[in-house]
Amino acid sequence: MRAEVAAVTAENPDHAALARAGRILKNGGLVAFPTETVYGLGGNALDPEASGKIYAAKGRPSDNPLIVHIADLSDLEVIASDIPEDAYRLAEKFWPGPLTMIFHKKDIVPLATTGGLDSVAVRFPSDRTAQLLIRYGGGFIAAPSANTSGRPSPTTAGHVIADLGNSIDMIIDGGPVGIGLESTIVDFTESPPAVLRPGYISLGMLKELIPEIRMDPGLSADREDFHPKAPGMKYRHYAPKASLTIVEGPDDEVVPAIRELAHKEIQKGRKTGIIASEENAGLYPEGIVKVIGSRSDEEEIAHNLYRILRSFDDDGAEVIWSESFDSPGIGQATMNRLLKAAGHRVIYTGGGST
Ligand code: AMP
Ligand code: MG
Repeated sequence: MRAEVAAVTAENPDHAALARAGRILKNGGLVAFPTETVYGLGGNALDPEASGKIYAAKGRPSDNPLIVHIADLSDLEVIASDIPEDAYRLAEKFWPGPLTMIFHKKDIVPLATTGGLDSVAVRFPSDRTAQLLIRYGGGFIAAPSANTSGRPSPTTAGHVIADLGNSIDMIIDGGPVGIGLESTIVDFTESPPAVLRPGYISLGMLKELIPEIRMDPGLSADREDFHPKAPGMKYRHYAPKASLTIVEGPDDEVVPAIRELAHKEIQKGRKTGIIASEENAGLYPEGIVKVIGSRSDEEEIAHNLYRILRSFDDDGAEVIWSESFDSPGIGQATMNRLLKAAGHRVIYTGGGST
């Protein structure tokens, strides 16, 4: 099947196309759509067969649960139970927006949607097109990122067409997304609540409302004992086809180190990519150099990460060296994804590697 692609702008939405998409969802079909984080692959979250189709289309492991998207705060209580007061405080501040919260699930949510867990992850996106589609589709839309499992998440409709254009019913093209990294996930089935996946909403922003909130210890552990609580975080996804390594250290050591590493690969005749900050890009004389953004704009860096990883696939890159982009806000999420894309391969310029 070849997916219908419909362009829909948030300012002037094509209600006929969205209603058509809503009907597809209600009939158990799959529709990809833009959100403020990345493109999502939507199916009716209350229909186990629709969820099954999502796993099949993505090639997603069946123990990796789906996030249920709603477009009305009052719908939260239809699918979740034991919702603590703190969760409502986060909802008031960050919903609609790039925050996912996990609660005990109600029976109406099939285990096929939650990867067999008795909890459910819920998000209320701020993207207007996403909200309209969710409403037209019945109010409860399971939507993981609309990529083939293992590939970087899609930030444009073109990325979705490349991965899933032949295996789903419809794609809503709303142009490039705003944030470009997946939502922050907070787990309220434990107390104090824990961040299972970093995102645009940083730990600092969450702590302003819930001082005792913490990162899931499984996230920051060494690779050998990496046991994150969100099942999806254990897979090496977000990855380009090339072998990617992060080079970490002070700028005046990282640039010469990457120059040398890249030079050796190029001499061996291998297609070699470099992910550089705007500040350093001019210092690399060879290789396919891609500028991810300025170090003074961590949101720009986050926004460009997946697009750049995918474009290296299109170039046929075999090895990629990347600078490190650690910063206190969304830089935490960028590094989390970059580390996963690199399979946690890091070279420290002071010596040592992982
Ligand atoms: P994606 O939809 O591709 O952004 O991935 C969703 C992420 O949310 C994965 O890492 C899942 O493991 C995680 N997730 C979804 N539901 C749950 C849940 N009930 N408990 C823990 N993690 C969850
Ligand atoms: Mg994903």
